[in-house]
Amino acid sequence: MCLGIPGRVVEIVDGYAGQLALVDVEGARRRVNIGMLDEAPGRDDWVLLHMGFAVELIDRAKAREALSGLEMMGRGREQRIRRRFEVRGVVQGVGFRPFVYVTASELLLTGSVTNTGDGVLAEVEGTAGAVEEFGRRLCADAPPLAVVEDVRTSEQPTRGGTGFTIERSSASGRARTLVSPDIATCDDCLEELSDPSNRRYRHPFITCTHCGPRFTIVTGLPYDRAATTMADFEMCGACRAEYEDPHDRRFHAQPIACPDCGPRLELVGKEGALPSHDADALRTARKLLAEGGIIAVKGLGGYHLVCDARDDAAVAELRRRKQRGGKPFAVMVPDLDVARGLVTPTADEEELLSGGRRPIVLLPRLATGAGVSDAVAPGSPHLGLLLPYTPLHVLLFGIGDDPPGPDALVMTSANLSGEPIVTDDGDALTALAPLVDAWLRHDRRIHVPCDDSVSRWAAGAELPLRRSRGYAPLPLALPFDVPPTLAVGADLKNTCALAEGRYAWLSQHIGDMDDLSTVGALTRTEKHLEDLTGVAPTRLVADRHPGYHSGGWARAHAAGRPVRTVQHHHAHIASVMAEHGLGADERVIGIAFDGTGHGTDGAAWGGEVLVAGYASFGRAAHLGYVPLAGGDASVLRPYRMALAHLHAAGIPWADDMPAVRACPPAERDVLAHQFATGFGCVPTSGMGRLFDAVASLADVRHMVAYEAEAAMELEGLARTAAAGPAAPEGGYRFGIRPGKGEEPAVADPGPVIRAVVSDVRDCVPAGLIAVRFHTAVAALTTRLADLCRSRTGLGTVALGGGVFQNAVLLEATQRGLTERGFTVLRPRLLPPNDGGIALGQLMIAASG
Ligand SMILES: [Zn+2]
Ligand SMILES: [Zn+2]
Repeated sequence: MCLGIPGRVVEIVDGYAGQLALVDVEGARRRVNIGMLDEAPGRDDWVLLHMGFAVELIDRAKAREALSGLEMMGRGREQRIRRRFEVRGVVQGVGFRPFVYVTASELLLTGSVTNTGDGVLAEVEGTAGAVEEFGRRLCADAPPLAVVEDVRTSEQPTRGGTGFTIERSSASGRARTLVSPDIATCDDCLEELSDPSNRRYRHPFITCTHCGPRFTIVTGLPYDRAATTMADFEMCGACRAEYEDPHDRRFHAQPIACPDCGPRLELVGKEGALPSHDADALRTARKLLAEGGIIAVKGLGGYHLVCDARDDAAVAELRRRKQRGGKPFAVMVPDLDVARGLVTPTADEEELLSGGRRPIVLLPRLATGAGVSDAVAPGSPHLGLLLPYTPLHVLLFGIGDDPPGPDALVMTSANLSGEPIVTDDGDALTALAPLVDAWLRHDRRIHVPCDDSVSRWAAGAELPLRRSRGYAPLPLALPFDVPPTLAVGADLKNTCALAEGRYAWLSQHIGDMDDLSTVGALTRTEKHLEDLTGVAPTRLVADRHPGYHSGGWARAHAAGRPVRTVQHHHAHIASVMAEHGLGADERVIGIAFDGTGHGTDGAAWGGEVLVAGYASFGRAAHLGYVPLAGGDASVLRPYRMALAHLHAAGIPWADDMPAVRACPPAERDVLAHQFATGFGCVPTSGMGRLFDAVASLADVRHMVAYEAEAAMELEGLARTAAAGPAAPEGGYRFGIRPGKGEEPAVADPGPVIRAVVSDVRDCVPAGLIAVRFHTAVAALTTRLADLCRSRTGLGTVALGGGVFQNAVLLEATQRGLTERGFTVLRPRLLPPNDGGIALGQLMIAASG
C-alpha cells in the first residue's frame, strides 16, 4: 500500500535548480519539492507525495490504484444511512419500480421497492451522499409517463444487506394511486414492429414500460400483471426473462406479450365464413376495407366502426346503417404526411396529433384538394383527425411491402345511437351485426370502456373538447382540501368526478344521459373510479336542474348521504377557477356562455356574467331573454331561434328572410301564437341559441343534427373570411342596459339582430356576417367585464361554457380582455363544455 497521495506533474518551475514542480493533486495545483527523487520527472509524470515532498516516481496504474484506495477510505468514513421514500402520483404501471431499481443499483445502494395501495415505497441504504443523490434523481429523472405528486421521506435504522430487490406488491392501506392513462405505441416499439429480425416483428400487441394499454385493462390495485386483463395470458420463457431483467425496457411491463404467448387477432366474417387469424386476419381486413367494406375493429377502449374515408359509397353506407344523421366521423391517417394532405396543421397541432395521448384533433379543412368523402363530415369546416395509437392500427394501414390499402379510415366509436361504446366481444357480435361486414378482434378483454378524446388548439394552448382516452384517469391537483365527494356532472357529455383531500379524478367520457344504458354506464364508471381511487364519498353534488337524469341518479344512489345541487354556470366558472388553482377565498368575473342551463329564476340561462367565488355567486349581467319554444325542437331547428330573436327585437317576420322561409307556415303560426301568449315557452338567455339564430338568419344553416353544429359552421366561415385578402374590420354592437340597484345588467341582442337582417338584405356574404358577429360577442365580453371591474375592482376573468369551444371566439375574447388589462383564465385541462363541469360542482360543494 502506498503511503502518500498521487499527483500529476504539470510543469517544472523555472529557477530553484529544477527542484520545484507544479503538481495537480485531485484537481488542486500545488508547488512540490522534487529534489528527493532519483531522476527528475517530466510533464504528465505521476509522483507520490508525502509531507509536501515527492518521494517516488510512479506509473499511471499505480497512481490509479492509490487514488481508488483513497476513495474507498473516504467512503468508508462516510456515514451509512437508510431512508424510506413514499412516492405518490401516477407511479404504477409506468416503469417506476424498474427505474428505482436501476437508480439504486447505479448508486450502489441496497434496499427494496414495492407498489402499495398508496403509490411506490422505496427503502434505500448506503452512504449519505448516495442516498441524497437517489432522492434527487427520484424526482428529476422519473420515467416519462410518471407524474410524481409527492415524496415523503423518513429515516430508518440501518439493516445492511447486499442487494436491491423489487418486492411483491402489498395491498395494505387505501388504494390512492392511479395507473397511467393508455398511451400510444412508442417509437422503440414501432421500430421493433417493422424489424424482421425482431421476435415481435408485426406483433399487433407490442408494448413496453413506456407505452400501451393501462387504464382500460386494470381490474384492481395495486397495478400488477395479476390485476389486469393480461392475467389471462401466461408469459412465455422469453417474455418472462425480459419482464424480470432490470436492464430490459420491458422490465415489469405488465402488458408484455409476444406472438408465442400474447393475445391473438381474429377476423370473423358473416355467417358461414371461416375466421382467419393474425397476419391472415389483417390481410383480409385490409382487403375488405379496400373493397368498400365496413368492419368493427377492437381497439383499446372499445370497438370502432371502420371504413375507407375516401370511398363515398362506403361512408354513405356506414352513415345509413348507423343512422347517424349529419354528425361528423373522425378519420385516422397513418402519419402526418397524409394529414397534411387534408388539413393545414400548425406545429402545435402536429405535436398534439402525434403526442402520446393521441386525441382526435379538430382541424380546419383544406378548402380545396381531393381529401376525404363529403359524407365524412357533411358541411363541416373542420375535420377530426387522429393518428394510429396501437400496433394493430399501424398494421391495419400496412407496413413494409404490404399491398397498399386505404390511407384514410373512418374511425368512429361502435355504438348504437346515443349508447355507450361497445367493449364486450359477445355484444359486438350481436349488436353490431346490422352495421358491419366483419369483426377484427382479439382475446384481450377491455375492462373499462374509454372513448377517443377530442381536442383542438386555440388561443395558444390545448383546448380539450372531450377528455377521455389518454387523459383519464390522471388526477387534478386541487387548491385546497375537500372532503370525500362525488359530483355527477350534467346530462350532456356526462362525466363524473371524485375528490378527496387535494386531488380530484374526473372520469372518462360517459355520454348523454338521455338513455337508460348511459345511466347504467354512469353507475359502472363511478364504481370503478371509487375502486381505483379509494375515495368513499360522504356527499354527492348534482346540477340544480330538476329534470336532469344525472340529478335523479344522485338522489337514487345517495343512500342517506346529502345531495347538494349547484347552479350550472356557477359550476362552469368554478371548474375554470379550480383548474387554474385559485384559492378558497378568491373571486373572479365569470363569463359563462353555453346553450342552456337551469337558472335560479327558472329561466334557461346561457349568456351569463357572474361575480363568483367557489362559495357563492351573483348574476352581474346576462343576455336579454327571448322565448324558447319547446326545448329540443328549438335546439335542432335554429330557424325557430331566429324567429324568436326577430320577435324579441320587434322585427316582423318577412318572407324575404331565409330563416322565415325555412320555417313551414303552419309551424310559423304556432310559434307566433306561443310567442304572443308565452304558452309552452321558457325565457332563455342562451348564447349558444343566439349563435343558432344568427346562423339561420345568415342562411348558413336552419336544421342541425347535434347541438353546436350551426355555431361550428359560423366559426369556420368567420375564420376563412377573416383570413381572406380583404379581412373585414369592425363588428355589430350589442346594446347594454345597466341594471337598477342590485339588478343584473342586460345585454340586448336586438341591435345585432337588426344589423344582421340589414346585411342579409344587402346581400353581404355570410362569412362577413360571421366575422362581424364574432367580433360583436368578443367586444361584449370586454364591455361587460369592464362594467364588473368598475363595480367590484376585480381584474380576473374566467371563461367557461360550451360556446368557448369556438376557437375564433376564444382567441378574440382573450385578446380583447388582455388588451384591457384583465388576467384571463381559460379552460386548458378540462373541456369548456359540460364534460368539464363536475370539477366545478365538487369545488362549490366543498365551499359552502
Ligand atoms: Zn413501447
Ligand atoms: Zn412471450
